[in-house]
Amino acid sequence: MTDTAVSYDPDNIFAKILRGEIPCNKVFENEHALAFHDINPQAPVHVLVIPKGEYVSPEDFTARASDAEIAGFMRAVGETARQLGLTANGYRLLANHGPDSRQEVAHLHVHITGGRDLGRLLE
Ligand code: 5GP
Repeated sequence: MTDTAVSYDPDNIFAKILRGEIPCNKVFENEHALAFHDINPQAPVHVLVIPKGEYVSPEDFTARASDAEIAGFMRAVGETARQLGLTANGYRLLANHGPDSRQEVAHLHVHITGGRDLGRLLE
């Protein structure tokens, strides 16, 4: 499949969070993005940042989203890291897409992890 936009499932769990049908522990929100704590944290701090639009992947997002949406999303990532107090010791950003990455939720999201030495990503 080349057009990931057609595979967007409006009933995915993050779409339900955006519609307020499922609660989340919100960290930050702006016009274009929402950040909330991961339900199954893999680090002392583990937050997900999602765009409010219906995008599956980074390539889908950058192909279809407006510059304002892309800027708003990246601002949300930075502002969330700041609000979580991660800027002094650092943190990791990670985005999974597709089966090789074992992406679980097919709505674009960036994981922010931190709060401890995360080790090297590729070891
Ligand atoms: P992926 O594997 O798709 O990159 O990551 C999906 C993430 O969403 C996982 O870390 C998982 O713990 C998290 N997640 C799945 N369902 C929920 C939920 O209902 N609420 C929250 N806050 N996180 C969820």
